[in-house]
Amino acid sequence: MTVEIEYRYNHLTWPEMNEAIARQPVVLLPTGSTEQHSRHLPLDTDTFLVESVCLEAGRRAGGRILVLPPVPYGLNMHHIDFPGTIHIEPETFIAFCLNVTKSVAYHGFEKILLVNGHGSNGPLVDLVARKTVLATQSLCGAVGYMSLAMEAFNAVRETPVVAHSDELETSLYLYLAGERVRRSEMVAGNDVMGKYVSSDSTSNYPVRFNDYWGRWTRDGVHGDPTAATPDKGEVIFEAAVSGLIEVVEEWRAWPIEERSDQHTGPVQSQIRW
Ligand SMILES: [Zn+2]
Repeated sequence: MTVEIEYRYNHLTWPEMNEAIARQPVVLLPTGSTEQHSRHLPLDTDTFLVESVCLEAGRRAGGRILVLPPVPYGLNMHHIDFPGTIHIEPETFIAFCLNVTKSVAYHGFEKILLVNGHGSNGPLVDLVARKTVLATQSLCGAVGYMSLAMEAFNAVRETPVVAHSDELETSLYLYLAGERVRRSEMVAGNDVMGKYVSSDSTSNYPVRFNDYWGRWTRDGVHGDPTAATPDKGEVIFEAAVSGLIEVVEEWRAWPIEERSDQHTGPVQSQIRW
């Protein structure tokens, strides 16, 4: 029987934290949202799904992962016409997450990974990762969990659009906590799809664009959840978890080299950006 090594960051005591730092696991920061997810999914969808993937990866990774408590809010003003949505200004979100990653780096963890579950946080977590690298001695990257599951999902999907409260997210929620999905409330989105722009073209479209959702939908769905099943959710979950463990293995092995300075004269190293 293998003994499970604690993988939840804040379940450790501070003396145990010293042991964890010596082991150098990859520290995961899940980022989600508190945001309308159509008539059938709870507002915690992005946070719940990404945290579930991270925790299961941590459970299986034998001490090579520590999972921070998730950031449950994100950039969401475009959903504000739907009751309950919480919006965080992008500058605030970046500053907050950066304080978390810098704290983790301060303690001596060398490898950090933001794992994102909310599309609109995508550009922001990219910047948090880059700013962490530039400000600390640690390496920090960002990955969206859906990208790790897309190949597996493509093999079982029946609908063309992956965006929001769609076949993918609904399948995953049905698999993980089906009792919380209001199945009778599922409706397909009246998505606006162009060649270069869609009503939620934050990925896979040349033009980055996200309109106020109150302008084009009354249900708050983009995609079609009616094709969702728990079995598809299991496929997505397993692909995301195993993909994340593979990412962590590569990230742990990634070298942190000494910087080489090619100046031939003095530099003004006292400048602070
Ligand atoms: Zn979502």
